[in-house]
Amino acid sequence: MKIYEVAVIGGGSAGVMAAIRTVLNNDECLFFPGNSNHKKRSRAFWVSAVENMPAHLNYKKGIEEPNKISLDWLAAGPFASKFHWHKNRGVTKVLKKEDGLFEITDDKANIFHAKFIILCTGVMDVQPKINGSIEPIFQYANAQLIDYCLRCDGHHVLGKKTAVIGHTTSAVWVAVMLFERYQCPEMTILTNGEELQCDEESQALMIRYGFKLVSEKIESVLGDAKSKKLDGFKTATQIISTDFAFVALGMIVYNELAKMLSAELDQRGFVSTDNKGKSSIDGLYIAGDLRANTKKQIYTAWDTAVDSADEINMLIRRQKRNASSI
Ligand SMILES: Cc1cc2nc3c(=O)[nH]c(=O)nc-3n(C[C@H](O)[C@H](O)[C@H](O)COP(=O)(O)OP(=O)(O)OC[C@H]3O[C@@H](n4cnc5c(N)ncnc54)[C@H](O)[C@@H]3O)c2cc1C
Repeated sequence: MKIYEVAVIGGGSAGVMAAIRTVLNNDECLFFPGNSNHKKRSRAFWVSAVENMPAHLNYKKGIEEPNKISLDWLAAGPFASKFHWHKNRGVTKVLKKEDGLFEITDDKANIFHAKFIILCTGVMDVQPKINGSIEPIFQYANAQLIDYCLRCDGHHVLGKKTAVIGHTTSAVWVAVMLFERYQCPEMTILTNGEELQCDEESQALMIRYGFKLVSEKIESVLGDAKSKKLDGFKTATQIISTDFAFVALGMIVYNELAKMLSAELDQRGFVSTDNKGKSSIDGLYIAGDLRANTKKQIYTAWDTAVDSADEINMLIRRQKRNASSI
């Protein structure tokens, strides 16, 4: 039975960095980046220009394009024999056997065995439903007129009439931060039919800054995404005029594989780990957005992946050192 040292599951920001670091550490790496369904529901897939990091401005798809360049280089380079890239493959099942090895089943029912897993399956931002569908938002999100990530794209609202779609304390804080940083001439909170549930501090700031609160359901998005223009949102009784919008509805956490292994999760479903990404399950490491208590960003995904791959390499080296008689 072939036993791999490390299996990296997920091929977004964290997964690609975990694969690069593992292979360059000279550890044998099985790499499952996910099939087309996994990719389409990943954050990496929806990222266009990355403006909050150096050296990414020229990529139209700021994660996927540079990742592909690096993976192709890895697969052709001096460590190619250590890199087992299962293109377009996802993982459907993981279990930990009595001998301590992980048994990994891919979506073609092939079975693999590995000593360590770095799980990087990520998260996805919750989309608002407009007339029961999440579709109306996408053309505007693709045109970057509607954004999700404050650190990535908050600067887009500079001087713009802005709306935040959300109904929790977090949504109000997103509005407060955008307003304080970029002096938006108008700020509206669109709860899209939900009751606003925010704490006293954020509510007081809403009032102080004169935010408008609209609790009706959104019926349609107004504008022309192709010409990069958002005009606003229509409800049953009014039109809310905005140049830009943010969605702040929380995240769906892709923790199914971690749950199969009974790894400990936090209250929101992120996987709890130590500062190297080690989960409650021996040998299972978590990197990227899936790891609890991290910034949900490309550079944090990279850093967490490096932490985990290096820690695993240290354990592998220690094991080999102890087993050798030299
Ligand atoms: C619209 C948008 C714009 C953003 N812009 C920026 C930005 O400008 N700057 C920035 O720093 N961050 C940005 N982010 C955040 C950034 O995309 C994420 O923080 C980062 O991609 C997280 O990396 P990750 O590897 O954890 O997850 P992802 O990149 O989402 O990757 C998850 C991977 O897991 C795979 N997968 C899932 N399930 C399985 C499975 N069962 N088997 C195998 N593979 C699986 C998927 O195929 C995918 O490859 C943005 C996010 C969004 C949504």
